[in-house]
Amino acid sequence: MKKDAAKLELSEEAMRTYGYQIVDAIVDHHHTQKDKLPVALGSREEMDSIFLEEAPESPMDASEVLQFVLDKVMTNSTLVSHPKMYSFVPGPSNYVSVMADALATGFNVFSGGWVTSPSASELEIITVQWLLKIFGFPQKKGGGIFTSGGSMANLTALATARRVKCGQNFSKAIIYLSDQAHSSNIKAIRVLGFKKDQIRIIPTDLEFKFSINKLKSCISKDRLEGLQPFCVIASSGTTNTGTVDPLKELGKVCKQEDIWFHIDGAYGAAAILSPKGKQLLKGINKADSLTIDPHKWMFQPYEMGCLLVRNHKHLSHTFTEKPEYLRDIEGNTSEINFYDHGIQLTRRFRALKFYMSIKTFGLSAFREAIGYGIDLAEKVEAILRRSKSWEVVFPATMAIINFRFNPIGKSLSEEELDEINQYVSAKVVASREALLVTTILQGQVVLRMCLINPRTRLEDVKDTLNLCRKFANEFLEKKKVVS
Ligand SMILES: *Cc1c(COP(=O)(O)O)cnc(C)c1O
Repeated sequence: MKKDAAKLELSEEAMRTYGYQIVDAIVDHHHTQKDKLPVALGSREEMDSIFLEEAPESPMDASEVLQFVLDKVMTNSTLVSHPKMYSFVPGPSNYVSVMADALATGFNVFSGGWVTSPSASELEIITVQWLLKIFGFPQKKGGGIFTSGGSMANLTALATARRVKCGQNFSKAIIYLSDQAHSSNIKAIRVLGFKKDQIRIIPTDLEFKFSINKLKSCISKDRLEGLQPFCVIASSGTTNTGTVDPLKELGKVCKQEDIWFHIDGAYGAAAILSPKGKQLLKGINKADSLTIDPHKWMFQPYEMGCLLVRNHKHLSHTFTEKPEYLRDIEGNTSEINFYDHGIQLTRRFRALKFYMSIKTFGLSAFREAIGYGIDLAEKVEAILRRSKSWEVVFPATMAIINFRFNPIGKSLSEEELDEINQYVSAKVVASREALLVTTILQGQVVLRMCLINPRTRLEDVKDTLNLCRKFANEFLEKKKVVS
């Protein structure tokens, strides 16, 4: 393969060949991944044995490098778009957005300021408008920004909340979140420099919802102490169980108390596109800021998060700096420079994939795909309830189901149940057939399935449940032999 090394270029022909090889690899992967094992298990030693080397001074054939990467790198990554990837939050993705990302990268579009790329800024404005409408936020006054993910959206939100509610002095500021809130919120709070005693973790009720009574008590006590309650973080779809906090009631409390209301909808907010989700998410439009995470349940490839705000000025007031070298590109007020609305200056063109995939498939396809996941989890719940082996620990909510092996007539102790379910998960993962890990709910080890992949069929889940049962019985047999 010919290349002009000093310009970091390949010949035109070589560029085409190289590009087509990559497209072929992606398309092949898309069509064959369901037949691959989703779980990657390589240890550091194994990875070192494949990859460890000094940065090479001399060149190598581009196709050879590519082939090595396809053989060794791509095969040693867990397939988060695989139909049997049930854990954490799967990343179903979609091909149109994958290609859109290639295009954005290929043209290396700078999505920071209006002057460098009016179209990229405009598409971010337009797609944010779409989202504002979907979530019932004020369209004229509202605003938003795309981020690398939910964690960065939460960080952006909390920086904004603090600036708006506390100004410069936040030594007495107090922030409230539930024990089910995502860890990225605590990380963001720490990054922002809050001390531990400025954080209130409010216990949830038996359904894992934010307890309004406990929140109100805590806020009053803090006010009596002369502290400044300034922000509540609610979850609209917790990562563990899909539980939506009582958003309307929380919104009311925040309004009465003049507290910033942030909703972390990174997992579940997208469900608003389906009728069932819309019902569950009532009150989401009461937030001052809302994190959504298109690279989860809006089927975008990594990385894409988003923060929506009720008042776009809150973002610009928080993040605008005016250094002299950006003086010439300020633009007029309707021409948004997104570097003034968030943390990043240089930003990739994230809006493009969102725009192209929604234009190509239509919003109706997204609605259907989301509804499918919610229904699938409900079907799985029905199967589990009819079976003698399984106990539903938390009902299907927002496409998540929590259950455990607990066969009737065996009267196993809680310790044995924890042990057996931990064993089942470990064996399933070791088999590499499915990624199914446990979580802890009210002290019990449970298996958790997150079913947002529209390419996961009920048959896939049944397969996996059979595999689980096989390992569970194996465990019971072993116990018998020993005891
Ligand atoms: C995934 C998730 C996050 C973090 O989002 P990233 O995109 O992984 O940074 C935050 N909150 C909730 C509820 C999540 O599910």
